[in-house]
Amino acid sequence: SRTVALVGRPNVGKSRLFNRLCGRRLSIVHDMPGVTRDLISAEVRDDYVLLDTGGIGMELEMTPKKIATAAEDQVDFAIRAASVILFVVDVRSGITALDEMVAEKLRRYGKQVLLVANKVDNQEEEADADEFSRLGLGDAYTVSAEHGRGITVLNEAIDEMLGPKPEGSSGDKDKRIRISLLGRPNVGKSSIGNRLLDSNRLIVSDVPGTTRDSIELDLDYKHPDGETLKFRLADTAGLRMKRKVDSPVEYFSGVRTQHALERSDVVFLVIDAVEGVTKQDQALAGEVLDTGRALVIVVNKWDLIIQRWEEEPIEGYKNLKHFLKSYEDSLRKEMFFLPDPPVLFVSAMTGFKIESLLETAASVQATLDLKLPTGRLNNLIQSLFEARSPKLVGTKRFKVFYAVQVGSRPLKIRFYCNRVERLDPGYRRYLEKAIIHEFRLSGCPVRFDLVGKD
Ligand code: GDP
Repeated sequence: SRTVALVGRPNVGKSRLFNRLCGRRLSIVHDMPGVTRDLISAEVRDDYVLLDTGGIGMELEMTPKKIATAAEDQVDFAIRAASVILFVVDVRSGITALDEMVAEKLRRYGKQVLLVANKVDNQEEEADADEFSRLGLGDAYTVSAEHGRGITVLNEAIDEMLGPKPEGSSGDKDKRIRISLLGRPNVGKSSIGNRLLDSNRLIVSDVPGTTRDSIELDLDYKHPDGETLKFRLADTAGLRMKRKVDSPVEYFSGVRTQHALERSDVVFLVIDAVEGVTKQDQALAGEVLDTGRALVIVVNKWDLIIQRWEEEPIEGYKNLKHFLKSYEDSLRKEMFFLPDPPVLFVSAMTGFKIESLLETAASVQATLDLKLPTGRLNNLIQSLFEARSPKLVGTKRFKVFYAVQVGSRPLKIRFYCNRVERLDPGYRRYLEKAIIHEFRLSGCPVRFDLVGKD
């Protein structure tokens, strides 16, 4: 993550400098109370996140000892959270004991540091700034946050330390969405696969170079709205065989499952509508979750339910739609550990909703590469903490200072928090569900990377 943090004693002008570097004043600066009353962040030039740590540990009544502790906490936080640290000192007060403590810490952790001497308004003060090289962090960049002096040079130095911005791989748009069908024997995987292949909206072609044993197929699906969606269906050896000779071949098992999983972006977990969710289904779902693949649940053989309903309506339900709703609810309860996946009700036999598999895979795939905006993420976390406090552990509660996405596929969010062990599973799930809901990440697994204070 591209994060720059400001550290330094109180009153050296950190927040002035913060505003100066953001370019704008109040509009995009957002406070993050609740997460912590103390941290301020902003996106700068669409490039990096700037953090002002100056509020961490600050209270109304500050003794010198409290100030020292707070400064230490601020540096500790910055060392963990930022890739570049701006260590701000005040040319008018020279080097203080606190400055030396901060410098010592920064040197010890070998972070990328830019030493910034603020309040340099004239030539004389410029010369005074020389003494800061004694802190062992190189020469100070001299700026006046108040008047904007030296900011351009400082910006260039920040850019250089951050290095070039990694390009969002733009070719990804044309890449095929790799899908696979997973499920217990006889739930209808081959039937669904063959149904799909029969769709006249599809152009199917073999993927050259794949072995006979593990054939992949490219599917170009002409969406009714005119767009063509491109898929690659993994491990269809059994499908092909079944098309020719009608013998039940069990091709999804053990090693093959693993292989298919590894080669997929989106996995369809097929469940038998009549049998409902079994232990084995839950185990398979867990496996998919572990690999970090996106998941769509497909309830197959829905025609049998329809047929049963037509013979005799199921007691306690107004209509079939009502039954479906309650079926989905209990299915979600049994699969509660999943990231709220889409659930599709289909029939391979009649072809009912079979093409919705592809449309759903496309929308789920789109979420896999989402970049969660840091500001919105932190605002969400803040309101979640306000809506519901974590449990007390002893006399303290779990607390998050700052959250930022650090990876995709699976989506990974790093939490800078007080104590990792204070997060209980219930609260973790609460945060996870809310993040999935807020950013519409249905089916897309979310991982937490907790970084505690020690
Ligand atoms: P696989 O082992 O998961 O690949 O399952 P198959 O595709 O071989 O299907 C197992 C059995 O279920 C076969 O007898 C299929 O005809 C039947 N079947 C599959 N899909 C449906 C469906 O949607 N409705 C009904 N009624 N039967 C189905």
